[in-house]
Amino acid sequence: TSVTAPAALYAPERPNSEGHDLTDPAALATLEAARAPFRRAQWQAKGGSGPTLPVINPADPSDVVGHVNLCTAEDAEKAIAEATPWGASNRAGILNKAADLYESHAAELFALLAREAGKTLPDCEAELREAVDFLRYYAARIDDLQDPALGRVTCISPWNFPLAIFTGQIAAALAAGNAVLAKPAEATPLIAARAVALMHEAGVPTQALRLLPGEGATVGAALTSDPRIDGVAFTGSTATAQAIHRAMAEHLAPEAPLIAETGGLNAMIVDSTALPEQAVKDVVMSAFRSAGQRCSALRCLYVQQDIAPTFLKALFGAMNELSLGNAWPLATDIGPVIDARAQAGIAAHIQQARTEGRILHETEAPAKGTFIAPTAIRVSAITDLAEEVFGPVLHIATFKAQELDHVIDQINATGYGLTFGIHSRIDDRIADVTGRIKAGNLYVNRNQIGAIVGSQPFGGQGLSGTGPKAGGPSYVPRFTRAAQGQVQG
Ligand code: GLU
Repeated sequence: TSVTAPAALYAPERPNSEGHDLTDPAALATLEAARAPFRRAQWQAKGGSGPTLPVINPADPSDVVGHVNLCTAEDAEKAIAEATPWGASNRAGILNKAADLYESHAAELFALLAREAGKTLPDCEAELREAVDFLRYYAARIDDLQDPALGRVTCISPWNFPLAIFTGQIAAALAAGNAVLAKPAEATPLIAARAVALMHEAGVPTQALRLLPGEGATVGAALTSDPRIDGVAFTGSTATAQAIHRAMAEHLAPEAPLIAETGGLNAMIVDSTALPEQAVKDVVMSAFRSAGQRCSALRCLYVQQDIAPTFLKALFGAMNELSLGNAWPLATDIGPVIDARAQAGIAAHIQQARTEGRILHETEAPAKGTFIAPTAIRVSAITDLAEEVFGPVLHIATFKAQELDHVIDQINATGYGLTFGIHSRIDDRIADVTGRIKAGNLYVNRNQIGAIVGSQPFGGQGLSGTGPKAGGPSYVPRFTRAAQGQVQG
């Protein structure tokens, strides 16, 4: 006999995107041939009446990826007036069509992600799959919606997932029937423009989705302080989320929700029973993949003192093997950080540690382009870090077995609560530690990045975000009137 479990316990019957198998030489060759015409292509992002600026590849100052025409605050106000929520009964079909179009334009989107955002090919692959999964997963939630759309929703997205998070916010707001005013990150307007063009091509009406490339201080401010806006989705720094919250409190209706995904100070504990080869691999992946530019990334590793000398030797050896460079070739492990300003901030943090004699290990970075070499820095505790350093910098503390409770307190004391990882082979300890750590996403004996839509809803608590979790069942309903004023997990 077959057992039927309640449907709500499961992710919907909707397969996640399969993507490309980058380990299959034939699939890779096909992809490379499709990508080649975009190696020197240029794109345009149309905005409004502001200036037109070049967009440059962070790995290569001579590579002009295209041009963005910026919007002004007045353009934003006009767009708000024109925005019209959509009641189309085939919204799910249209969002699924957009997912299909994303997949059929993979080569072009990969080229843009690599050249505009410095994304390596495996990161491009993961990002496209996540974007497609968001479209299909949120489309699948439409049938369950009970309540009307909020109305006009502002989506402000980050450059670190310029396709996936950009698409996820918009897809959820559109799924609920809202009109969306989308402000992409200043560093990545071209990929946003291409994504919006594909959503329009799929059938999203232009009045229901408008792209407004521009500065946070002008366009972002206009889109979060206008009483005609009924809700805001934001992913980025905790400080910016707090500023948006204040602007909304002052100007928007009290029931307009802020759905914010913000920073993290993420820890991993590796105890003396951990499988060292696996833990080294997962630390490298969690701290350095995407050049550490994920809010889920590992920032502070706690290694049990007994194994620290051998474990860190293996870890530093693995760091030496990472290949840094232009994100385009498959052989590149670590691309650039997003821009010169980010590079300077991270470099200053490393320099401070150097002055204090706390560098444990450094590798080498290319001279041209905005690279930061993967670096390990000694700290006494995670609480030594004032805030998240958004780059390939791993802080390392050691602990003795009897100090584990203290370590848990330190991790909880940061006030953030996004991701946490533990490597241990003691089941009781895993249960105890994960039960006490305050974090949205807990990972055991694996890496702590790359949450999968539908099966690992992603989001934090405390200073890390408001919830509900992206890629989970509560997300789309938050963009309707039912959920107003409620806190959902
Ligand atoms: N969802 C991503 C992950 O699990 C991180 C999102 C972010 O960096 O904002 O790696």
